[in-house]
Order: sequence, then structure tokens, then C-alpha cells
Amino acid sequence: MFEVIYVEEQLIDHPRVLEIKKKYPHSEIKLINSIQDVFGRVKKPYLQKRFNLNLFLGEKKGQLVKLAPAAYGLTGEPHYYFIHAYNCIYECNYCYLQGYFHSPDIVLFLNHDEISQEIKQVAKSYHADHPDKKVWFHAGEYSDSLALSHLSGELNHYFKLFKELKDCKLELRTKSINIKELLKEEPLENVITSFSLSPAHRIKSNDLKTPPLKARLEAIGTLVERGFPIGIHFDPIIYDDQFIPSYEELVDLLLEKISADKIHYISLGVVRFTKEVYQKVQKNYPESDLLAQEFVRSFDNKIRYNRPMRLWMLGKIKQILLDKGMALDRIYLCMEDQDYDPMVINHES
Ligand code: SF4
Repeated sequence: MFEVIYVEEQLIDHPRVLEIKKKYPHSEIKLINSIQDVFGRVKKPYLQKRFNLNLFLGEKKGQLVKLAPAAYGLTGEPHYYFIHAYNCIYECNYCYLQGYFHSPDIVLFLNHDEISQEIKQVAKSYHADHPDKKVWFHAGEYSDSLALSHLSGELNHYFKLFKELKDCKLELRTKSINIKELLKEEPLENVITSFSLSPAHRIKSNDLKTPPLKARLEAIGTLVERGFPIGIHFDPIIYDDQFIPSYEELVDLLLEKISADKIHYISLGVVRFTKEVYQKVQKNYPESDLLAQEFVRSFDNKIRYNRPMRLWMLGKIKQILLDKGMALDRIYLCMEDQDYDPMVINHES
């Protein structure tokens, strides 16, 4: 899978590095001083990930935990994300990573102790002023949280950390069915695995190289049986002529695997792009039906459907969820302005 594995020289005897080297005996190993010196220094086209992928193993420098953008999660609680990886083995054709780094190569950061220290520090500072609030931490802002968990091997580390941090929550965001490492852990109430789902035909045409809906639902079922808390993201929501029936079907299939009262939250996010990412989509996926959609530049400069269309789409899906028994306070809107209620707009339109 990896042609070259670049390793920061101070990590050459790190147990995780030794294990990864053993798993890829045919990869060439190159020692480097720092990931920053090599990763993305020469531009590598995004779609080259189909034929040639390298792996970087190193330590994350600088700020390790960052405040998440507004509307990232349930409102009223602060949200942070931590960075332990860059890039992803999947190829969703709307993925913002295609416009983010100069290379699709995978980077795994191994300094989990330092990341954990920063998580503890952030939680402590926040709780000093708000002792009654939960603080959320999200993994997988620049990667998929589970897809490479057998390689990166950090889940046990973060389960131990969050067992201690009872006033904090950890979200593992994924489209993967690679739950083997997760199943080795004892479920914790405050560690939530959240799956991004779309109707089956949209997964086929947009979430390239990801597990199909059926397999993701199976993984959810297995985790529910084993007592792992589950969150769901309907994100990105894309309009087509099967929009309403396909989301009705998706909710029905989901509720066959997990009852509505067991879903910790469902977030709804309509497809959106920065200008740069949209240009990458045009270049990388010129045949995609994403490009036939009518988008405008919206309030935050992102490219999306116009506001009435977004409100209509969010309202319709929210109504489907409510009709099928999902509690209102567990549905939230992702990356949208929060000062409106799509239900009201939906009733008006
Ligand atoms: S799973 Fe997420 S990170 Fe990976 S390609 Fe898809 S959108 Fe990007």
C-alpha cells in the first residue's frame, strides 16, 4: 500500500514504527529530520493517491488541539479537535482534503502523550470557568478516525484518557467499518463513534472507495450490540430527484440497527465547498453530478445551495427524523448559521 515510509529519525525505534515496518516489509524506509521538510514540499496531485501513496510517521508540532468552527456539534457546549493524522485512504469526491494539503500522502502523528496533555490542559482551563459543562473533543478533522486505526493504534490511548476525563466527550468520526480495534476497548459513555451516512446510491456515486451503506449499518449494529455509544451525521446532504424517498429509506434502515433513543445525536449538513475545493472537484471529477447542482456563494463565502433550498432540505430531513421518533434536541445542524429554525421555514415554503 505504501511505496515509501518516511520516518522522523527520533522515532526509528518507536514501537509503533517497528510494527508498521513489519506490516509493510516491501516499503522503502526513508529517515527524515521533520515531516514539515518533506510532506507536500513537492506538489503531488490528489488523484495520485489511486496509484502511489506514501506514509509519514512523525510528531505533531505547534498547536495540537484547536477550537472547532461554530456549529461543529451540539450547541451550548465547546468543541475542540485534535490533530493526530492528515489525509485519508478514501476518495469522497466532495472531500475538502483535496484542496487542503499539497499532497494526498498519509501522515500519522505518534506523539499521543503530548496531544493528551494538551487535551487535559484545554479541558482544565475551560472547566475552571464552566465547571458544569462538558467539553467535546473530536478526532478525524483531517482524516477518518477508524479507517487506519489498526495501523495508527491510538484508540487504546484515547480510551484510557477519556476514562479519566469524565467531564469531556470524545467523538470518533468515520465512514469506515474498520471497527476491530474499537471492539478491543470497553465502551465508555463519553466516547462516541459517529458514522457519516448518505442514501446508498449517493454513497456509490460520491463516497468513492468507502464501505457501502449496508456495511456501515452492519458496523453500527455490531457496535450497538456491544454497548458503544453512536452518533450519526447525515452529511453531506445532496439533492437529487430521489431526495425525500431516499432519506426516508435511509432513516428506516438506520432505525433497524439502532433505536432512535439510542442515537446520541444526528447532525445534518448540506454539501458545501470552499472556492478552492470546488475548483478541485471540477478538475478531479468533471463527470460528477455534483457539478450539475445549482450552487451559490453563501454567507460564509462557501459554495452551497441557495439559502431557501438549504432550509427546505434540512427541514424535510428533520421532519422525517421527527416523524420516525428522533427527539428534537438530538438533531443539530452542522456548519450552518444557527439563528434560524428550518422547521419554521419549511412550514412556510
Ligand atoms: S472519509 Fe472523510 S476524510 Fe476521507 S475522503 Fe471521505 S470526506 Fe475525505
